[in-house]
Formats: sequence, structure tokens, C-alpha cells
Amino acid sequence: MATKLLLLFAICRLISIVGLTLNPTDLFHVEITGHLTTNHVDIKSASTDFGKLTSSSPIAVLHPSSTSDISNLIKLAYKSPNGFTISARGHGHSINGQSQTSTGVIVQMMSAHLSKTRLTVVSQKMMYVDVWGGELWIDVLKTTLKFGLSPKSWTDYLYLSVGGTLSNGGISGQAFNHGPQISNVYEMDVVTGRGDVVTCSMDQNPELFYSVLGGLGQFGIITRARIALEPSPQMVRWIRVLYSNFSAFTHDQEYLISLHDQPQSQKFDYIEGFVIVDEGLINNWRSSFFSPNNPVKITSLGAGGNVLYCLEITKNYHDGTDLEAIDQEVEALLKRLNYIPASMFTTDLPYVDFLDRVHTAELKLRSKGLWEVPHPWLNLFVPKSRIGDFDKGVFKGILGNKTSGPILIYPMNKNKWDERMSVVTPNEDVFYLVALLRSALDNGEETLTLKHLSDENRKILAFCKESKIEVKQYLPHYTTQKEWMDHYGDKWPQIYKRKMEFDPRRILATGQRIFEPSF
Ligand code: FAD
Repeated sequence: MATKLLLLFAICRLISIVGLTLNPTDLFHVEITGHLTTNHVDIKSASTDFGKLTSSSPIAVLHPSSTSDISNLIKLAYKSPNGFTISARGHGHSINGQSQTSTGVIVQMMSAHLSKTRLTVVSQKMMYVDVWGGELWIDVLKTTLKFGLSPKSWTDYLYLSVGGTLSNGGISGQAFNHGPQISNVYEMDVVTGRGDVVTCSMDQNPELFYSVLGGLGQFGIITRARIALEPSPQMVRWIRVLYSNFSAFTHDQEYLISLHDQPQSQKFDYIEGFVIVDEGLINNWRSSFFSPNNPVKITSLGAGGNVLYCLEITKNYHDGTDLEAIDQEVEALLKRLNYIPASMFTTDLPYVDFLDRVHTAELKLRSKGLWEVPHPWLNLFVPKSRIGDFDKGVFKGILGNKTSGPILIYPMNKNKWDERMSVVTPNEDVFYLVALLRSALDNGEETLTLKHLSDENRKILAFCKESKIEVKQYLPHYTTQKEWMDHYGDKWPQIYKRKMEFDPRRILATGQRIFEPSF
């Protein structure tokens, strides 16, 4: 009863603020066993995100205790004459307000009102794990490891929610081999924009399944995902080698990802890379294992302060593996590459520590007050045929020698991405992720300010447009529907049709700014 009264209070507030014409007595028919609140602490935390570039306050926040809570809330919004918006929030690690709304309710998917042990179920026989959509990947890993298993495809950072990364793609150095995280899902429970709870997979309700994967939260809220698992390795050989020649670097990256169909002993398990324009914590927070004791000074390798490129690869192995065999496998692969001799850095570490490496860097940045700052990130998929032009125009052109954050660059195989999913990638067999992961600092240096970095991002996008480099934004951000139509290209009619089918009132994830709500 107390919960119902609280709910009534919150919804009445919602009605008064957005001027809805709901009949309050109807609200007693909405069954919510979680917690719907207008508490200012909840509102504040749901108003911001990792980007710190934009903020908008929701009218109320739902901490669901089950899928039914979410379904009942959406049904209310869908059926009421004027409606209100609803956005799922995973861990709020978006950059541009994608999980925010000012005209409705935020569903905090990491709700304390859920009994997590009840929700996470590992099937050792079928090699999958069923998880709640708001679960963090770090917790998924901890649970599956108890069974000697782990997911196959990762993000570099594990404090992201399953629903949040599946709404985008979820990529890291395993994507060339296993595909993105959205290619490693067997089944989901989704609450659509009509409030229907639908189980979907490749065979059951496939249209909803493919819509939601990479669907930017537009077609439904993922409450359960069945993720593919493999026997977990225990150890990782982590290797970095440097290049001063960009074509040698990309040639080797492309060669290594072309081995994806080879037996595991004849390929690496993870392939990434990054651009080194300058050194320092803020620039290399993802790459802190260049040992300070290493006699090779990185800058001494670049010809006259030129840009350097670092190839980052790993080989996984199990406890008890003959290390000589690993040495031989690694050596056989490395000898086919053209990196700068004597530029190799290598370390062996537990698999979990490797997967959780960015969190270690996060703690360092937090301790220096460099984590809670604005992040004008730009993530682009660049077609392979134009990556050389991108290097000349951006790495050696637009960017000065202060980038204010790491720049990742690594290729992926398009055939690991299912075209039926909602995400868009360039129209070539191989494309690169270029991730400019920048932190704006207010320390008196003009090149590190939010304005300077945001202007640079605009220049990069304008350069790609003028040079006809057909990039696609990853974690996209646009402000007009025309830009979204360009982003989706040939896929736009399908996206539109899916929206009309699964969220006809356009109430879900309005922070993406793709569709205007119909009220
Ligand atoms: P949120 O920001 O909370 O939500 C993102 C969008 O998804 C919103 O539109 C929201 O409404 C929607 N959404 C959230 N939960 C659900 C759900 N259950 N069902 C339906 N829609 C939902 N990405 C990579 O691919 N690889 C990386 O290596 C990587 N590293 C990162 C490192 C850091 C430090 C950060 C900040 C981000 C990184 N990202 C990476 C980006 C990240 O994948 C996205 O920002 C993702 O959206 C974050 O997940 P979240 O749970 O915080 O989502």
C-alpha cells in the first residue's frame, strides 16, 4: 500500500509537471513492486552521464524489481492520452545524454531492488549465461568464472551495463574474431514501447531481436540477455610493438585480423592499437604498461617527433600450458610483422586483470581528479580503403601534438556483424574503429579546453565529409532527424518501420534524438 501511495504521489507530480490528463485512480491499476521516486538524489544521478556535456532532469526515477514493473510503467505511458517518455539507464556511460529525458521517467536498470543471484543463471552444458539487462559486465565475468567460463567478446572497460553495450555494439580487440558483443547473444527478453514483454532470438520474434541489437534503445528495454560463453583462459601474454610507418602498421593489423578463421594456435586472441602523439597519464591511461624501467624511450623511436603507432595483441592460455609452446606460437606470428626492431614490450598477467585493465587506469585518474571531467569523445568507423587518408588528414594534420586522451585504432571484419542488426558500419569488408577518447581539462592550456576539443571533433567530421571518407559514427550523436537519416542511409526505412512497430508512440530512449515523441 505504501508503495502504491508513493507511486501515486510520483505520478501526480509527473502529471502536474507535464500537464498530462491521466485519471489518478487509474494509477492504482499499475502494479509496481519496485520503487518509483522523485527523490532529488535519484533525479540528480539520472540527469548526468560520463560525457558531462549535457544534463536534463527526469520527472521520476523507477528502480524496478522485475520486468513486470517496467512493462506496467510503459503500458501506462503508451495508453495514456498524452503519454510520457521512458528511458532505460544502464551505468550512464554515454557521452551526449543518450540515456536522459526531461519529459518522463528514467528506469535505473542497476536497481538495488532486484535480487541479482536469482537473475544470473549459468548453463555449463549449453555454455551461456542469462543476465539481467542492467548487470555490469564485470559482475557477469565474476559469476561465469565460478564455472570456469567467460563471455567471448568484450568492451575494453567492464563497468558498463549489458543492456547499454548491446544497444550500441560492444567492441574490443576480440571483435575481429568473435564479432561485437551483439553477435554473441542467443536470446533476450525485451519490453517493447507498447509494454509487451517479448522473448526474442534468431528464431523467435527475429525482427525484434535484430532491431534491439545495436538499436540505441529505440525498440524496447532489454531485461534479460542470454550471452554466449567459452571455457575461460586463466592467463594472457600481452604484447605491444611500435611502428613509425602507418602503412606498415595497418598492413600488419589487417594481416592479423585476416587470420580469424585459423585454428587458435595460429592467431592472436585480441588485436587493437593506438596512436602515440604525446606521452603522459591523460593520453595513455589505457596503455600504462610501457614500463618506466624499460630502457627504450618511446619518443626516441619516432623519427623527429613523428607520430608513432602501437600494435597491441594478446595470446590467451590456460593454467598448466607449456609456456614454450606459447613462446613458439607468438614468435611464429611476430616474425611475419614489420614493427620497429627492439620496440617490443611484453608482460604475462591473469586474464581477469587484463580484461579489467581500464578500471586500474580509472582509479589512477580518479585519484588525480581527472576522471570526473567533460569527455568530448568521438568514435568513428572508417573504411579500410580510406584509413591512410584519415591518418594524413587527422593524426598528422588536424590533431596537434596534444590530444588530451588516448586514440585507439583497430580493424574489424564486417562479416562478423549481422546486417539484420540495427547498427550501421561502413560498406567495406574491413573497417577501423578510431576512438578519440578525450578529456577536457581546465588547466590553462587552450588546446585542452572543451571548446578546443569540440571544435577539433567538428573539423575531423568536416574533413571526412569534404574528403568523401564515408565514416559512420559509433556511439552516434546527432541533433536532427535529417542527420540520422544520413547516418542510417539505406537502413533508414527499416529503422523507421521497426520504430512504428515496436514503439509507435516514440516514447523510448528519446535522449538519442532520433524520433520525436508523439505527444
Ligand atoms: P547508458 O549510457 O546508460 O545507456 C546508453 C543507451 O542505451 C541509452 O540510450 C539507454 O537508454 C539505452 N539503454 C541502456 N540500458 C538499456 C537496456 N537495458 N535496454 C535498452 N536500452 C538500454 N564501448 C565499446 O563498445 N567498447 C569499449 O571498449 C568501450 N569502452 C568504454 C569506456 C568508458 C570509460 C566509457 C565511458 C564508455 C565506453 N564504451 C565502450 C561505450 C559504452 O559501450 C556505451 O557508452 C554504453 O552505452 C555504455 O553503457 P551504459 O550501461 O552506461 O549505457
